[in-house]
Amino acid sequence: AFAAQLDPTLEELGDIKTAVSEAVTNAIVHAYPDTLGRIVVKAKILEGNVLEISVRDWGRGIPDVEQAMQEGFSTAGQTARELGFGAGMGLPNMKKYSDEMSIDSVVGEGTTVYMTVFPGRKEEGR
Ligand code: ATP
Ligand code: MG
Repeated sequence: AFAAQLDPTLEELGDIKTAVSEAVTNAIVHAYPDTLGRIVVKAKILEGNVLEISVRDWGRGIPDVEQAMQEGFSTAGQTARELGFGAGMGLPNMKKYSDEMSIDSVVGEGTTVYMTVFPGRKEEGR
């Protein structure tokens, strides 16, 4: 709903929803595997109609971000896989569905995923 004020296309809006959902799911499943924890989602509109979203947790952190970004890489256990998680496609999809994406993570301290979206960029490129 916040992103809608930038007049994104339905496709762009769908991509934003998917990317945020994947990031929050990761925080629930991976950052806090056996506890309840805090997750903060921030959305800002920057100059030039740029949407910046961050999803932060204070969970276990990611030891090797580059490896975690690989398609198919997952540390999900069997139970998570039975529930349909663990294809290792969440982070690659966040990259694909946003225009810019980066991760700050410290083991034992937590993770922040930043995603930037420029609604309208695809049309301009046509
Ligand atoms: P899928 O998203 O396809 O269900 P997945 O969650 O395992 O499977 P990704 O979302 O790509 O795949 O994440 C890859 C790996 O990165 C995870 O298995 C986990 O080890 C690590 N990871 C991702 N997000 C976090 C996080 N917020 N905290 C700790 N580890 C994370
Ligand atoms: Mg995931």
